[in-house]
Amino acid sequence: MMLPRQTSLSFSVYSDLYDKLIPRDNKLHQLNDLVDFTFVYDELSSRYCQTNGRVAIDPVRVFKYLLLKVIFDLSDVDVVDRSRYDLSFKYFLDLAPEDDVLDASTLTRFRRQRLKDMNLLDLLVSKTVSLARSRGVLEGKAIILDATHTLSRYNLYSARVALQGRLRHLQSTIRQAPLPAGEINDILSTVSPGETLEQTRAACTSLVQRVRSHGGLSSLPLVNERVNLLEETLEDVKDSVSFSVDKEARVGHKAVNKSFFGYKTHVAMTSNGIITAALVTTGEKADGQYLEPLVERSVENGMEVDTVIGDMAYSGRDNIMYATGHDVQLVSRLNPVLDGVRGETGFVYNKDEAMMVCPAGHLAYKECYLKPEGNKNARRVYFFDVKRCKECPLCEGCYKEGARKKTFSVMIKSDEHVEQRKFQETGVFRANARLRPRVEAKFAQLKNVFGYDRAVSCGLDCMSMQGAITIFAANML
Ligand code: SF4
Repeated sequence: MMLPRQTSLSFSVYSDLYDKLIPRDNKLHQLNDLVDFTFVYDELSSRYCQTNGRVAIDPVRVFKYLLLKVIFDLSDVDVVDRSRYDLSFKYFLDLAPEDDVLDASTLTRFRRQRLKDMNLLDLLVSKTVSLARSRGVLEGKAIILDATHTLSRYNLYSARVALQGRLRHLQSTIRQAPLPAGEINDILSTVSPGETLEQTRAACTSLVQRVRSHGGLSSLPLVNERVNLLEETLEDVKDSVSFSVDKEARVGHKAVNKSFFGYKTHVAMTSNGIITAALVTTGEKADGQYLEPLVERSVENGMEVDTVIGDMAYSGRDNIMYATGHDVQLVSRLNPVLDGVRGETGFVYNKDEAMMVCPAGHLAYKECYLKPEGNKNARRVYFFDVKRCKECPLCEGCYKEGARKKTFSVMIKSDEHVEQRKFQETGVFRANARLRPRVEAKFAQLKNVFGYDRAVSCGLDCMSMQGAITIFAANML
């Protein structure tokens, strides 16, 4: 498709209606006045053919549809439908009042074909930051770091439940097959899902084999489809005890005894609420390891940074050393167990639950303190549920077969971070630390106003795209 190069309003005898009916302080009117959306052409020009094909729908207009969808938290179909009769939408889209709207499927194609594999998140955040800088609203030299979670569009099931669901579907399809009742009963009578994962797996494998070897059944397209799905699920749960349609989402922890299944968005924000950098990851990732990329992206986007404010998750030794080396004040309270834990071992301290998380994402169920002995430092020991370890695909080198308990211990280095501890007691630290809760208001806006509490699609790329458009809208409005 060829790329069109015009966004001007087509002539219409009804255009005066916009002046009469849409006030200057309407937020879509203001957004249109504030942002020059032609950057969309420059970024997307390589994704269109410049010489051949039909003229494509104006990419700026399609991008604006996506913005409207996020700003008003609407589905693809609903945003197109509302654009048909809402004059402020039509004005924002540079349509004449009597112009027709596009087909909702164009939005899906635009996301899949034009925006895919593009670093939209960095691009849109940097656009809004440069706009904020040019308007003089980029306040101070301090950035606040934190992460917020977004639930996956799909739930997480145990492998046994997922297999049982697929098995039931296949059984009910077989029951409707045009075969003698006795033959169908004969095939199904030997299959019983059982109570454990292994028994369910065996039942599924046995039914798949029986159907495959039965000429009549395997020639039926619907039966074949269900068998293929069951085989695919068997393959998916080979190395895992859980299953979800969204294969990239992961379990993370947000509070004591409270977990979520989905993604995390790590952000850096100025004290007046402009997001200067953002990163989208799967849900299990620890917040602290993203301090460096967030600071560097903020600087690349034109922010001068001399203070980084964050919760205890950001006070690891690597972050303290990074801040010292870059002449940045780190306003983050120390946690005695943070030091030396992440990295090589894969065990990560979760600040929300005040508990250790293992590489498989399971939370320790208890901890104890071991007093220092002789030359040995004090240690904190964390206990993990061995029932999970026995079924864990990562048990090699972590859990010894037959062991009755699985523990992980951390040395408490009381003399490390002396400078940081002194800084913690100063008035400057306390004054900056008081700015940190402002980031929670921004997260509330992302979730409650722009629907960022749940992913609209599957996978990390789609989540990142959703994050990009949401943050763009949140920074602009
Ligand atoms: S073996 Fe146990 S502690 Fe180790 S990663 Fe697996 S579940 Fe976690």
